[in-house]
Amino acid sequence: MKYAIISDIHANLEALQAVVEDAAPRADAFVCLGDIVGYNANPIECIHIIQSLCPVTVIGNHDLAAVGLRPYNDFNPYAQAAIDWTREQLSSSDIAYLEALPMCAPFGIDQTYLAAHGSPRHTDEYLFQAQRIQANFMYMRQFEPNIHCCFVGHTHVPMIWECTADGILLTVETINADAVELDSTSTYIVNPGSVGQPRNGNPASSYIILDDAAQTITYRGVHYDILAAQDKIYDAMLPMPLAERLEIGR
Ligand code: ZN
Repeated sequence: MKYAIISDIHANLEALQAVVEDAAPRADAFVCLGDIVGYNANPIECIHIIQSLCPVTVIGNHDLAAVGLRPYNDFNPYAQAAIDWTREQLSSSDIAYLEALPMCAPFGIDQTYLAAHGSPRHTDEYLFQAQRIQANFMYMRQFEPNIHCCFVGHTHVPMIWECTADGILLTVETINADAVELDSTSTYIVNPGSVGQPRNGNPASSYIILDDAAQTITYRGVHYDILAAQDKIYDAMLPMPLAERLEIGR
């Protein structure tokens, strides 16, 4: 079984369509790590695609904000403006769909994979610092001992961390790797990067293919029509920096 794992779509329809087109011939199933809405201008279209495409989908912090399940006065002003706008677009069935999404979802034949948004322990936790990542591996060992790989989004930065059987934390180089091989004795936290608002300095949409049989993870970078996505942001009168950041991938 091959899974296309996508995250942080953020209402960027052009990016989502390009990723689906790239992934469809390479994957048997899609998994979504949340933040379907926010920032960009096609929340409804993206919700409907994810709804029909991804049986395993978790909720993100922007999705929670858009349906009123999380305050968002801690978001930056541009993100707040986008949530205000998004709330006006959503129908009651779109809200019902987002509200019903779980925080975490195990998947795979033996349920050894876990989909989460920020971290295995919290939707809103940013995994950048080694200490936090180590704490999450300890959490997984205690509360999710069956999980081999936890997939997270939220930072919009593609990363793989490995915790060996001895508890040693490693960062796995993904940039030039064709396929990263998973060690059956280690535990992993894997971030596929973002479909709709990449922040790793590369404007291409990022996602991964998890090959369950081969035990490999392959990163894919997909170019999409950024100009079209930007035009929609201008037309919707969303803040201009939300359009500008797409072309620099920050
Ligand atoms: Zn996000």
